[in-house]
Order: sequence, then C-alpha cells, then structure tokens
Amino acid sequence: MGDDSRQVSSMEFKRYGYMFFGGNVTQWVDKTFPSCPLCKKPSLWELGNSGKVKLGWKNNMRNYFRCPNCMGIISVEMAIVQKRYLIRSLFKEQNARIESVGNNSNLQHLIGQEYPIKTLQEWASKTE
Ligand SMILES: [Zn+2]
Repeated sequence: MGDDSRQVSSMEFKRYGYMFFGGNVTQWVDKTFPSCPLCKKPSLWELGNSGKVKLGWKNNMRNYFRCPNCMGIISVEMAIVQKRYLIRSLFKEQNARIESVGNNSNLQHLIGQEYPIKTLQEWASKTE
C-alpha cells in the first residue's frame, strides 16, 4: 500500500475538457466536489493518468483526482464514477481515499484513510 501511494504521487495529472476523453469523469468530480475537501477552495480537478505507473490491480480500478490549488490527491473506485454495480452501491458505503494532502501539511494524518464521499463533501463545505 505504501508503495502504491508513492506511485500515485509520481502520476501525471491533467485537466480534461468535458467534450474530450475523460470528460465524463471530470464532470463527475466537478459535480461531486465543487470545492476541494482538503483546502476547501473551489477546484478544477485534474485527472490522473495511471497508465504509466505500476499500481496493484485493485488500485488500477480507481480514478485519481488532483486539486490544482493544494495539489492534494483523492481517489474513488471507477465503478462509483461510472455508476456501475448500482445494486452493490446501495449496500456499500461509497468511499473516497485520501492519497496525498498536497501542501495541507496539517492534514498528514489523513493520508491513506478512506471516508464516505458524503463526509468529504461536508468537509468541503465547512470553512474554519
Ligand atoms: Zn485543494
């Protein structure tokens, strides 16, 4: 697991327009997290290209998103983004994983933790 998180930080990230490949994923994350749960600023998420890094097969089935403001990285299962396995998702908590906290160094303890997407949305809406 530690190995994969190092791989994630060397991943390439790019912002995709809605009309291009990856656009539906960008649309999903923009809608789900209009503000970044880590830095709480409005975020234009970038999409990770996991093609060039070696991840375990389980981690290959995830979408990686980076916030350009704080460089924090979160990931979710592709099945959630693509709305596949709907029946399963009724019973299973839809979690997002904190892969990197970017320059929010006060949040180091969150790295590698998984939280329900709803919880992250609450963080994003809370301003301290
Ligand atoms: Zn951020």
